[in-house]
Amino acid sequence: MINGERTIQRPLRWGMVGGGRTGQVGYKHRTGALRDGTYQLVAGAFDLKAGRGRDFGTSLGVAGDRCYATYQELIAGEAAREDGVDVVSVATPNFTHYEITKALLEAGIHVICEKPLFFTVKECEEIAALAEEKGLIVGVTYGFTGHPMVHQMAAMVAKGMLGEIRIVDMQYTHGFNAGDDEGAGEAVKWRTNPETAGPTFVLGDIGTHLYYLSEVVLPELKIEKLLCDRKAFIPTRAPLEDHATVLMHYNNGARGRLWVSSVNAGNMGSQRYRFVGAKASVEWSDSRPDQLIYEVQGEPGQVLHHGMPYLEGESLAADRMGALHTEGLGDSWSNIYLWIAQAIDARMHGNAAFLKTHHYPGIKAGTEGVRWLENCVRSADAGAAWVEFE
Ligand code: NAD
Repeated sequence: MINGERTIQRPLRWGMVGGGRTGQVGYKHRTGALRDGTYQLVAGAFDLKAGRGRDFGTSLGVAGDRCYATYQELIAGEAAREDGVDVVSVATPNFTHYEITKALLEAGIHVICEKPLFFTVKECEEIAALAEEKGLIVGVTYGFTGHPMVHQMAAMVAKGMLGEIRIVDMQYTHGFNAGDDEGAGEAVKWRTNPETAGPTFVLGDIGTHLYYLSEVVLPELKIEKLLCDRKAFIPTRAPLEDHATVLMHYNNGARGRLWVSSVNAGNMGSQRYRFVGAKASVEWSDSRPDQLIYEVQGEPGQVLHHGMPYLEGESLAADRMGALHTEGLGDSWSNIYLWIAQAIDARMHGNAAFLKTHHYPGIKAGTEGVRWLENCVRSADAGAAWVEFE
């Protein structure tokens, strides 16, 4: 159980690029980071609008002279201080991730970056090599994989409780982009433009969460080939998609399907997973994140509840609230931030043995997400053809 006790040698001096007053995801980062005293927010280039960023930063308690106008100024200003930042989170639109991450790593600063990590696998591999050379961590905020019940599913699969996995069925949809983009806000505009979003819209924006969570639960399953069909129901979004279906064949013969959509009109957000084995299935949804449906063939179904002693140790170790109270998205983000902090702490103190077995979403997870997107786009652009996974 996580109770806020310090598990690293000292709090990390933390900065943010992006995540300003109008940013959608910034508060999730601060909720995740500032919970356990593991991070102290000491600097930021929070906003493209420098004045608004400074005003916002100081309202969060950051000293005025450490609220910078740009990420370049942040790097220079922090390098000049003895107590400069250890780690910076990048919560900006996709097209800026690569250049900001690269500049931070070159300056010797650990990075926590948003997904989709970068535009290409080549960029991911270059940054992975740079991080390795500098001895730095790159964490990726796949914010849903901190839920204790995700780790319950992973432990049950690892113990063979489901039997050989046969079917992977996933959905992440909402209806918030069902109308056209006239008058849309900045966050929609950059997401629907390939220059700022990258090669995908919903596949990268929400599909990468599905893909990473399935990697956490089913680490042994590798995709051998896939078929992706994508469409822009709002034509101005083409060549990017607001809706996609992906079929996947795995190395053990399992079959997978998923759909992602931001034009599922009326849907307030459904993120849903069903993993089916030869003996039993588990089903989890982020709308009831502290419960898990476990169905064994021929027996009555069960609803497993977070924090209960009958759960696997991996799930209980990620629990914060205890069974009587609900766990939610903020708890999941706090776990992700904690696990990344533990990785940074281990890297700072040369604890290679810890890093070998420690679970956190890092550069490999970010890279695999981008690789999955590249394969999806290759298939879709070939007319929804089956392609070998490369
Ligand atoms: P947004 O447009 O709402 O906010 C972007 C923020 O970054 C704004 O505050 C803007 O002023 C600032 N900004 C932009 N460029 C900057 C720069 N060069 N320097 C400093 N600040 C800059 O975007 P968003 O929806 O918050 O998305 C940001 C990132 O987070 C995207 O990569 C997105 O895919 C990701 N995201 C992840 C999750 C998740 O669950 N992990 C959820 C939402 C968004």
